[in-house]
Amino acid sequence: MKKIAILGSTGSIGTQTLDVVRTNKDIEVTALAAGSNITLLEEQIREFGPKLAAVWDEKKAAELKGRVRDLDVKIVSGMEGLLEISTEPSSEILVTAIVGMIGIRPTIAAMEAGKDIALANKETLVTAGHIIMPLAQEKNVKILPVDSEHSAIFQSLNGEKMNRIHKILLTASGGPFRGRTREEMKEIQVEDALKHPNWTMGRKITIDSSTMVNKGLEVMEARWLFGVTMDQVQVVVQPQSVIHSMVEFDDGAVIAQLGTPDMKLPIQYALYYPERKFLPGARLDFAKLGQITFEAPDFDNFHGLSLAYRAGKRGGTLPTVFNAANELAVRKFLDRKAGYLAITDMIEAAMEQHHVVENPSVDEILSAEQETYDFIESRW
Ligand code: NDP
Repeated sequence: MKKIAILGSTGSIGTQTLDVVRTNKDIEVTALAAGSNITLLEEQIREFGPKLAAVWDEKKAAELKGRVRDLDVKIVSGMEGLLEISTEPSSEILVTAIVGMIGIRPTIAAMEAGKDIALANKETLVTAGHIIMPLAQEKNVKILPVDSEHSAIFQSLNGEKMNRIHKILLTASGGPFRGRTREEMKEIQVEDALKHPNWTMGRKITIDSSTMVNKGLEVMEARWLFGVTMDQVQVVVQPQSVIHSMVEFDDGAVIAQLGTPDMKLPIQYALYYPERKFLPGARLDFAKLGQITFEAPDFDNFHGLSLAYRAGKRGGTLPTVFNAANELAVRKFLDRKAGYLAITDMIEAAMEQHHVVENPSVDEILSAEQETYDFIESRW
């Protein structure tokens, strides 16, 4: 039996991870964590029987405790609770399906405790990749990418340990507003931005995909995961989302991974790596598909992508500022307190006023995050 713990079990990646568990009968769920959705968390506890569960919100945790008192499960809360989930002694893999930088400390704690990480929570690598990657080596733990693009790159690198990556070709759908100018994106409403053409995902990443900030975060994620420079990661728009990403080697050969847009594939691959298991669901039909098309990304109108390259190349605390500003800006947009274009305006303004700290510690990363929030709150 494989033993896993999941941070963010009630979200898009979390529930799909549990779908994979349900289909395969050889994974035991040891611990689950959610933010506040105790109704779904209770159902998950009853179905999967973890011994430990965490709810960020203390009041909700107390309510859940009452609801599941007939079961043998310990309920914890807050950051202490997330840390307990991450280090639960019997689990082998921690699935980081939580959204945002809040994942940094639990991810580090899990690695310190010798757990492999099935990593969906890209914000952690973007902001603390310089801490996470060396720690993985030191503790001899695997970082198994769950993001479909990074899983594709990971799969394309199978058997290529000896060979140098010339370039990573990170594919992007271009999102629902591909082809629009900035002027044409002025009036975009929450409902418009929440419609992704190919993928069904959580709210934050869906907005990030529409602004191409998600792709920017993924460029930084790829740089850490695969030990390349920002310049070696090239974004290629491929609107059908069939090619999930590619690697170009020194001899010019390009290896790609293709598939239908289904997150269960990369999730299952991370949980069983290097084994491939049967996965029910739609398969690619190339004759039906007809064609796969490619475009260069539009850096001018999707300024978030240019800002991500700037942040990633500068490094230090600047990627944290990029990410934190985006997290708050997206929250404000979703709460209808800021317009759509204000998202990238906030990121740019926050980056411009920031004094970069080189090689930041976790505390310095968290203070850059707070400083960014304070700056944005004082301006918008
Ligand atoms: P969702 O918003 O759907 O889910 C987020 C999960 O995190 C929920 O279970 C939520 O709980 C939980 N959560 C939020 N805040 C806290 C907290 N403070 N403490 C404990 N749990 C918390 O997000 P996604 O599943 O879409 O994304 C998760 C991560 O995976 C992100 O980093 C995203 O970028 C990445 N990712 C997602 C993909 C996708 O297809 N969705 C694809 C590739 C990467 P609650 O429900 O109670 O609020």
